[in-house]
Amino acid sequence: MEGKDRTEAILDIAKRRGFFWQNSLIHGAMAGFYDYAHLGCLLKNKWQNLWEDFFVGMDDNFYEISVCHIMPEHVFKASGHLASFVDPVVRCRKCGNTERADHIIEDNLKENFEGASLEKMTEIIKEHNIRCPKCKGPLEETGILNMMFPLNVGTGEEVRKGYLSPETAQGAYINFKLEFECLRRKLPMGLAIIGKAYRNEISPRNVLIRMREFTQAELQIFFDPDAITEHPKFHEVEDYVLRVFPAKNRESRKIDEITCKDVVKVLGMPKFYVYHMAKIQQFYLDVLKLPKELFRFRQLTDEEKAFYNKYHWDIELSLESLGGFKEVAGLHYRTDHDLAGHQKVSGESMEINIDGKKFIPHVLELSFGVDRNIYALFELALAEEQVKEEERTVMRFPRIVSPLDAGIFPLVNKDGLQEKAREIQNLLKDRGFVVFYDESGSIGRRYRRIDEIGVAAGITVDYDSLQHNDVTLRDRDSMKQIRVKIQDLPEVLKKFLNGEDLGELGKPLKQ
Ligand code: AMP
Repeated sequence: MEGKDRTEAILDIAKRRGFFWQNSLIHGAMAGFYDYAHLGCLLKNKWQNLWEDFFVGMDDNFYEISVCHIMPEHVFKASGHLASFVDPVVRCRKCGNTERADHIIEDNLKENFEGASLEKMTEIIKEHNIRCPKCKGPLEETGILNMMFPLNVGTGEEVRKGYLSPETAQGAYINFKLEFECLRRKLPMGLAIIGKAYRNEISPRNVLIRMREFTQAELQIFFDPDAITEHPKFHEVEDYVLRVFPAKNRESRKIDEITCKDVVKVLGMPKFYVYHMAKIQQFYLDVLKLPKELFRFRQLTDEEKAFYNKYHWDIELSLESLGGFKEVAGLHYRTDHDLAGHQKVSGESMEINIDGKKFIPHVLELSFGVDRNIYALFELALAEEQVKEEERTVMRFPRIVSPLDAGIFPLVNKDGLQEKAREIQNLLKDRGFVVFYDESGSIGRRYRRIDEIGVAAGITVDYDSLQHNDVTLRDRDSMKQIRVKIQDLPEVLKKFLNGEDLGELGKPLKQ
């Protein structure tokens, strides 16, 4: 199943089973807004919790904060968003339809033009005679449009201009000074925010990939710029192999596999930056257990990266329905751009003094689009396969983020099997598992139901369970089963969800 068909199949499951759908459907939805339904919310929360445990857990001086989404105009004057958070647009001379210039070029030429100059885009549109996708009319010259949503806050004389925040990052910068004092003036200091970002995207598309309201999980690490060439834990990752796509490989399209040590030596990246590349790759490959071939770091060229980013590599996952590698996160060395900007506009000094050395800290930003990552999980998980005479749809979500931990089924609805199953459900609930009880339909139908929503473990209670106090544990992916004593079930289920092979947890039953 490819391209559009795959996207359609994901949308179909998402809506039918309760993962996500467009917001305000009953009133006519606006493009780029999605609500998470009950299963989607469970999945998103699991991803966010894993992200937080892993990245905030990297250092004792890293903490999560929670900030406002509406902020005064001055914040965005200081950050530069007011002047330069713009997208290139083209308008149709005939019907007035507006499109994002680089997207319309990409759609026609199948090449990425993000970051190209306005003149260049106008030239390409002319040269290739690219026309309005709606009415085939001619297009005007490429212009720009600010992507922030403005707001009037308050009433009458008191009214102040504000904006919905287009990234969570500014919330960390405006709180830097206060937190630095509270956290006893130590660097590096990390402030993580999982929150909403709002962008009036000209052409929202590809479901959760480009939205107008979306969730970001971002970690801002404030550090002494002189320390960028070192990281106290670099030795732990120096031989770890990264999958990188440096700018120099654009033509050959080759992904290099090189150790962190060599990324420093050969590609000239500083250790502080490379250490965090390793952590990000470990999050995708070791925590989420995604196949490494689907992952890469892509280095942005000078034209592509924001002017204030000294180093910028995107994290990309290969997504079949979107035609290849797509950005899901970024690692940005933002220097002192933001803190210096806030200092200039507010008049408040952002300089700190550590042992007599005065300086404005620099920032390394780990920026993840949560919804993009969730969509990527759907894209990577969806499989349709033939099982005997039947076709089964299975969402192979990484076990650790599957929306529910297990489904529990009494084989038949009599002779005390339901009561036994409920008892086991409660036992697992007490241990913190989210378990779904289902007694309707044949056992095969019940398995198919949890396969389709991506629940990794199926637990069946049968007549033997009453006699021997054990149950069957079924693996969604291999469909293999083992027998597990009820008293061992919480421990075995935990190991299974953490990625252990079913065969290592018990002897597979003959089926
Ligand atoms: P940026 O601030 O543009 O570097 O974005 C940081 C991350 O947010 C990106 O890597 C994406 O994963 C995500 N992101 C950016 N724009 C959108 C959008 N319109 N919809 C969904 N996710 C987005």
